[in-house]
Amino acid sequence: MTARVLIAGLWHETNTFSPIATDLKAFRAYQWAEGTDLATRYAGTNTEIGGMLKGAAAVGFQAVPGLFAGAIPSGPVTASAFETLAGRIADAARRERPDGILLALHGAMVAEGVPEADAALARRVRDCAPADVPIVATYDLHANISQPLVDACDLLIGYDTFPHTDMGARGEEAAARLAALLATGNRPAKVFRKLAMITVPQTQATAEPPMAAVMARVAQAEAVDGVDVVSVAQGFAYADVDHLGIAVTGFGSDPKAVTREVAAVVDAIETAREQFQPVLVPVMEAVGVAAEPGTGPVVLVEPADNVGGGAPGDGTAILAEMVRRRVPGTIVIWDPSAAAGARGRKRFAGPVGGRTLPDLHGAPVTVEGTVVFDEPAVRYVRDGAYMTGQQVPMGDVAVVRTDFGLNVVLTGERVMPFDDTHLRRVGIDPAGEPALVAKSGSAWKIAFQAIARRAVVVDTGGVCASLIERLPYTRSGPRRCWPLNGVC
Ligand SMILES: [Zn+2]
Repeated sequence: MTARVLIAGLWHETNTFSPIATDLKAFRAYQWAEGTDLATRYAGTNTEIGGMLKGAAAVGFQAVPGLFAGAIPSGPVTASAFETLAGRIADAARRERPDGILLALHGAMVAEGVPEADAALARRVRDCAPADVPIVATYDLHANISQPLVDACDLLIGYDTFPHTDMGARGEEAAARLAALLATGNRPAKVFRKLAMITVPQTQATAEPPMAAVMARVAQAEAVDGVDVVSVAQGFAYADVDHLGIAVTGFGSDPKAVTREVAAVVDAIETAREQFQPVLVPVMEAVGVAAEPGTGPVVLVEPADNVGGGAPGDGTAILAEMVRRRVPGTIVIWDPSAAAGARGRKRFAGPVGGRTLPDLHGAPVTVEGTVVFDEPAVRYVRDGAYMTGQQVPMGDVAVVRTDFGLNVVLTGERVMPFDDTHLRRVGIDPAGEPALVAKSGSAWKIAFQAIARRAVVVDTGGVCASLIERLPYTRSGPRRCWPLNGVC
């Protein structure tokens, strides 16, 4: 008999230092699809849901599409939004009585009053689903995994890449692993190890040291008989929660082999510890590099205002220095009111950015120039290697070009630079720019590394600062971890 498999998910990376609350509106604005709309919207995309749909078809499942919702990383999910979303997914598990469940999770979601929100969701689905229904879940490499999540699921599969180009592949793998569990009736042994370590996106790219060696060890582990899946969750540093930090999860039929291989991956991470220290350049020096003549853009990377990590994307430290020194290039600033003020005009002069956290991310900066692009409700479809095919809203957008050639892209929605389409869509050819500011940790590499003359990681303040010693952690969990131990 054809197995009926519920496909659903909830995706949010929560920055508990961000004051931007994540409500239902934020999910509706970014990713929200349910029932037949889920299949229509995500089929063929390089996302977990896209991969799960593809994998389900390949193994002959009857897919039962539930709800998938995702919001751009921001502050804690409101209690009512979490209740609504988790409730809908759990209700589907009860109502549909599926034979198996595929869940696309992030793993670093924090809701008001629910610090381990992914675990709470998975537990609720488990409790609502028929007894013993296998649950296979995917998680982001930035998950803060905790024991309750491991307990609630039969098998967890983390992304093996950062930037995350394998979301679709992991979704597909989840369907194949679920098919094996259904075919045999067996449940894999689980091994979960938590490390007292936190790292930051800047040093987590899986194709570069030190993570390349760690992921090579993961591949070696997964080739061992009796070991099915080993994943590294680097954790998401910008959450003041006790279950913060790196984790390694392993699943397979041979508990001894899984335990041994997970331990070897833990060793590889701990051995590389000092290589996870980020290196940053002061703002004045970095903008000075961007001002030097040359071919191709200098990418000024600003991890502290990483939109993909929950920062507002309206930080002005680099903008202020570029304006002061009249450095040409392109910078994207989230500023719905400035975007609205520029729309319908030939010229714009006024304060830009610095609306959310001026003490940390800089005060508004006055920008003056010609409005060279102006369009309401801009959308585009990601065509880079990351989340390929996903629809992205930019909100109302205006581009103000100063007389010294700096394009200030004012957006109504916060935009994660996971591809260069967000610039090309508003009339900017990134390869032709002398400087590009990327408010990103490492994901910018997918968009700009191939065209960059040079990349400089800039030291600014912010809720995603690479130097996490600056963040106001209050919980004991983070303080137990390297590099905070002994610092805070
Ligand atoms: Zn991630």
